[in-house]
Amino acid sequence: MGGHELGVLIEYVCDGHVSRDPIGPFITRHERAWAYCAGHGSGDHRWRHVSAIPRELLDVAGAKVELICGRRDHLDHGRDVPDGNGHVSVSGAKWAYCSAALNDTHDWRSVAPLEFSGIRHDGLDGLI
Ligand SMILES: [Zn+2]
Ligand SMILES: [Zn+2]
Repeated sequence: MGGHELGVLIEYVCDGHVSRDPIGPFITRHERAWAYCAGHGSGDHRWRHVSAIPRELLDVAGAKVELICGRRDHLDHGRDVPDGNGHVSVSGAKWAYCSAALNDTHDWRSVAPLEFSGIRHDGLDGLI
């Protein structure tokens, strides 16, 4: 397995190795889906589940979340969803996160770049 699989949909992204490796990402199978490690780590991956994202988008997206869904009903619903378990997607080469974990129409708002691990669902109101 190398970094040559184009046109695949990625369903897991590694949080353990986020600095891009010059030789390209490591792409492998995980839980019967494609998984993407930007840092080309050799082990100890921390796979985070994402909605199916074309691999080409991951190659250009940054490591941090830059868009947060600001829909009132989604923010309210998201308080009952564990932190980090929201809906993750890519919009315009930026990571987008909805705390409600709903595959629905979102209202993306630009925020100062956030680490995935730093997202607190009950604190999103203060960010957007
Ligand atoms: Zn990794
Ligand atoms: Zn939303």
